[in-house]
Formats: sequence, C-alpha cells, structure tokens
Amino acid sequence: MWPETEFPDRLLIDGRWRDQCSSGSMQLIEPATGQPLCSVPAAGSGEVDEALQAASTAFRNQPWSRLATKQRTTTLSRIAELIREHAESLAVIEARNVGKPIGEARGEVLAGARCFEYYAGAISRFVGETIPLSDSGFDFTMHQPLGVVACIVPWNFPFCMACWKVAPALATGNAVLLKPASLTPLTALALGRLGEMAGLPPGILQVVAGRGSEIGDHLVSHPLVRKIAFTGETTTGTRIMKLAADDIKRVSLELGGKSPNIVFADADVEAAANAAPMAVFGNTGQDCCSRSRIVVEASVYDQFVETMIAATNRLVVGDPLHEETQLGPMVSEGQRKSVEQYIELARQEGGRILCGGERPDRPGCYLSPTIVDGLANASRTCQEEIFGPVACILPFHDEEEAVRLANDTIYGLSGSLWTRDLERALRVARAIEAGVVSVNTNSSVYQEAPFGGFKQSGFGRDLGFEAMRLYTEIKNVFIRVGEVTS
Ligand code: NAP
Repeated sequence: MWPETEFPDRLLIDGRWRDQCSSGSMQLIEPATGQPLCSVPAAGSGEVDEALQAASTAFRNQPWSRLATKQRTTTLSRIAELIREHAESLAVIEARNVGKPIGEARGEVLAGARCFEYYAGAISRFVGETIPLSDSGFDFTMHQPLGVVACIVPWNFPFCMACWKVAPALATGNAVLLKPASLTPLTALALGRLGEMAGLPPGILQVVAGRGSEIGDHLVSHPLVRKIAFTGETTTGTRIMKLAADDIKRVSLELGGKSPNIVFADADVEAAANAAPMAVFGNTGQDCCSRSRIVVEASVYDQFVETMIAATNRLVVGDPLHEETQLGPMVSEGQRKSVEQYIELARQEGGRILCGGERPDRPGCYLSPTIVDGLANASRTCQEEIFGPVACILPFHDEEEAVRLANDTIYGLSGSLWTRDLERALRVARAIEAGVVSVNTNSSVYQEAPFGGFKQSGFGRDLGFEAMRLYTEIKNVFIRVGEVTS
C-alpha cells in the first residue's frame, strides 16, 4: 500500500485494505493525457454496511470518543506531520488525478496539514459554558460527539475537502466514513493510510470509494449514520436532505455557487482586473467560489474588460506537472463537454465571446479560459453554475443595481467587492447575500474563519470553530445544590 506503492489504490474498511470489492472497479483517467492512470475498487452496499458496522463498534468501544482529549490531540498532530512528510507525493498524485497545477496541488496539501494542526489545537479550547440560573444549582454545557459521521466530498479539491471535514469530525470524537468522488479517490485513500500510520484506532477513519449513483442513497439513509457532511452539487444536496429527513439525521451542505465580483469605479480598477482571471479561472474554473459573474461600474467597464482580457491571455495553460503552469485541464472529458455546451448556450443567448471558448491544440481535457459579455443576468449562462473556465461580465450604473445583480441568483456562497470607500465596503458587504465576502481581494478561505453558504449554496460552516459545532450535540447538565424547590 502507498506510500510504498505509487498510488493509494485500495479501500480502508474495518481496519483492512481491500483490493477487491463487490461493485468491481473504477478506472481513473489522467485528465492531462486522456490515458488510464490506475484503477480503484468500487464498494457496493455490502461494503458500506460492513464499514458502518465497524465505525459504530469503534465509536462505542474505543476510548477515542470519551472525555480525555490527549489521544485525539496527539493523533491529529501526527497526521499533520505525516501529511507534511509526504506532501510532494500527495501533490503529484493530486495533480495527476485531478489535472491540478502542481503548485496549487502543493498548496492544497499543505492546507490539509494546517487543517489537522488547527483542530489538534482546537480540541482543548472547544469548551462549554457555565450558566448562572435563577434556581439554586450549578448548570453547565458540554459538547458530545454524534457517533458515525459520513463525509461525502467532490472532485474539485479532493484532499482539502476531505481534510476540512475529517479533521473536525475526528477532533470532536466521532467515527468517520469518508466517501471521495469516483473521479478522484486517491488522496482520500492516502489520508486513510496516513491516519492508520498515525495510530488512529481501527474503524475510526475508513475510506470507502464507490459510485455515488450506486451506494449514495444507501449510505445516506443508513440507520447507523448520525450525520452527513456533504460538499457537492446543489441537486445532490437536495436529495441527501430529503433522504436524511426520514430519521432526522444531522446534515451540513456545502453546495454550488455563482459568485459575484463587484468592481466600483472608485476602486483600483487595474488591480481588480488583473486579479479577476485567477478568481474565476483558477482550478480551471472548477471552484465553488469561482467569481464567475463580474459586475463592473459602467464608467470603467471598457478599461476593466481590456485589462482582464490581457491578463487572461497571459495565463499559462499547460501540463499540470510543469512548475510554471497556472491552468491545467478540466477533470474529465464529460466536464469539458458540459462546459462547451454552456459556451454554445451563451452564444445562443446573445453573448459575445471576448476570448477563449476553444480547445487548445493538445491532448487531454483542456479548454481555454473564456470571457463572455452582452448577456442579461437572467440568462441561463449567468444563472447556472457552469463549473468551468467561463466568466460573464455585466455593467452596472449605481450601487443599488450592483447589489441587486449580485443577489439575483439562487446561490449565496461567496463574493468580492472592490472599492476605496470604506463606508460603501461595509454597506455592500452587509447587503451581499453570501456566506463569505471579501473586499479588495478575491480570497475567501482561511482555516481560522467560517466558510459556507447562504440560500441554495447550503448551510453549516466548514473551517474555524464553527465546524466543530457541526459534529457535536450540546448537552446541558444541571446539578442541584441546596434545597429542592420544585
Ligand atoms: P456531486 O456530483 O454532487 O458529487 C459530490 C459527492 O457526492 C461525490 O462523492 C459523489 O459521488 C457523491 N454522490 C453522488 N450522488 C450521491 C447520492 N445520491 N448520495 C450521496 N452521495 C452522492 O458534486 P461534484 O460534481 O463531485 O462536485 C462539484 C460540485 O461541488 C459543484 O457544484 C461545486 O460548487 C460543489 N462544491 C462546493 C463547495 C463548497 O464548499 N460549497 C466546495 C467544492 C465543491 P460520485 O463521484 O461517485 O458520483
């Protein structure tokens, strides 16, 4: 098993590494070449049952979940150390499996290490309250783990998304079943291996790859699962929420986005326009936070568009394993075709393709970064999450219109605004209906700060202390002191 072998290509179920499962196997394709990479067993419902039974037993019988925190702190710290020790191998695997540029893949792996470090430290600071009561007695709250947690993650940031969920779930004493996306299971399986090497008790972290269409419903509706932590498409989130309703499972959903990037005329327009391409085309546009609707004040619109096109044309599209590459291929041929259909739709809806919109002349699932203008915000191109390298630019005439355009979407994950006016920055930040807003930058993800959506971008928050609340119940304990009054 990896790191002795090139790829982590087995599943971790009930403390054993499986190289065969009941649903056959999944052939992974390298997006940069279109050639086979390796194959991974596909779990069926039998393996899901086995893993959940093992998780339930581990949760009940292992000291992991009980009050003493030393074991959890030490083990999570050790996982972080192991991620750092194996960072280059993990980054290369991610770059090859997802098509992600190696520099970004390294950043994602180190963010995963930082996530485990943060929650290792947070364990002893995630405290309850003592509450003064009107009655005679002593009242306090404590956080208790939920039990078996299913973490279901997507293919765009496979390692990061896995760490964002697994680290706080383990920190708070749960037993975790991690289900990676079928296209990109490798670094999740590697995380399972690092957990084992760090001394996690068997059954506390299992990694079960399998097709969502085959095992998803079974996993989500299984009576042993107490909570589902999901990141993925809004349509999948809707289905999960419905299934989870039957036995009142806890659910947190990190879903899609169509985030606005508002540029006011009083901003540093050159800085905003030079930053805009990576904010929408980074990770080849396969980013839930992608600032894919760019809303620019009419008086600086032409200047902004010209600068953004020039900056886009400077982006280095290439082999993910080359150091200078900024944009790799899309994750799969299916995803590329889906995005190409949206580019065609943009044309039909009256959009002007200002740059890109074509396949570069090379093998693999590449698509050049595409800027479209001339569309109404009500168009499907402006409303639907394309999840590829396509930016829509729209003009606005005053602040009210900018806010209206920004909020005219079913999504509410993130957004940016660029202005030198502090009062306007605070006013507009408050008015944008999104879980994360950034001013004069497009960065919206910090380990210490909560991350998640408004509206159909989901609910619940990853990262920061907020995430620990998602994996715990709060219990109130009252101790009578003195006379019984009732
Ligand atoms: P997806 O199709 O919803 O899949 C996400 C995960 O759910 C995969 O592991 C998938 O397995 C699994 N799944 C599929 N059907 C299921 C079912 N019926 N029950 C349970 N699990 C099921 O999403 P994706 O295409 O991988 O990822 C892209 C989406 O993720 C975009 O919409 C993006 O915006 C969103 N995203 C959101 C955030 C955020 O923080 N808000 C972050 C990253 C991505 P299979 O792969 O086997 O189908």
